[in-house]
Amino acid sequence: MARYVDSVCKLCRAEGEKLFLKGDRCFSPKCSFEKRSYPPGLHGRQSQFRRKESDYRMQLRAKQKTRRVYGVLERQFRRYFAQAISQKGLTGTNLLIILESRLDNIVYRLGLASSRGQARQLISHGHFEVNGVKTNIPSYLVNVGDQIAVRETSKSKAIFKEIAQGINDGRVPDWLELNASNLSGRVVTMPNREHVDATLDEQLVVEFYSR
Ligand code: SF4
Repeated sequence: MARYVDSVCKLCRAEGEKLFLKGDRCFSPKCSFEKRSYPPGLHGRQSQFRRKESDYRMQLRAKQKTRRVYGVLERQFRRYFAQAISQKGLTGTNLLIILESRLDNIVYRLGLASSRGQARQLISHGHFEVNGVKTNIPSYLVNVGDQIAVRETSKSKAIFKEIAQGINDGRVPDWLELNASNLSGRVVTMPNREHVDATLDEQLVVEFYSR
């Protein structure tokens, strides 16, 4: 499975805003964007003053931001876009709902991981099950009624003890249901546009791929 291995903080700097990819660290003074908010690279500091705002640049940035927030590589993102086109309704909204339905996003939204990146790692290390079946594919797309849980054999691990202590069901969106005592959750309904990060501009993503 191909994955992005460079520093994720560089992605925030490239987008010129905090994407909150590192869990609690993003809310602490250790966040690198607080210290260096200019783009990465040798000429990053100067380049931020030379950039021209073209339509193409805005569309590209919207696409890259969406892709990076969900931690999806280009090829898979294109596949999701093709899937979104083939569905009924607005392509951009369909795309966001597909991204929200990924297992790593659900684990993160339930608070069973501090970031989507950590969720991806915990899932691929085999700590989660869907409907009682061990599932180690972060891109697995969930459906209404699916039960997502930390596996019994993993609950005694230090990482899950820590997560159990800090879990906060007030942060769980209402399309999901958390059972904090059991480290599990359920998909109550599929999300709609209002449940998704309002700063993402899916229309620009559609325009980018429609050029
Ligand atoms: Fe972005 Fe979080 Fe890194 Fe800050 S700590 S730059 S918000 S990933």
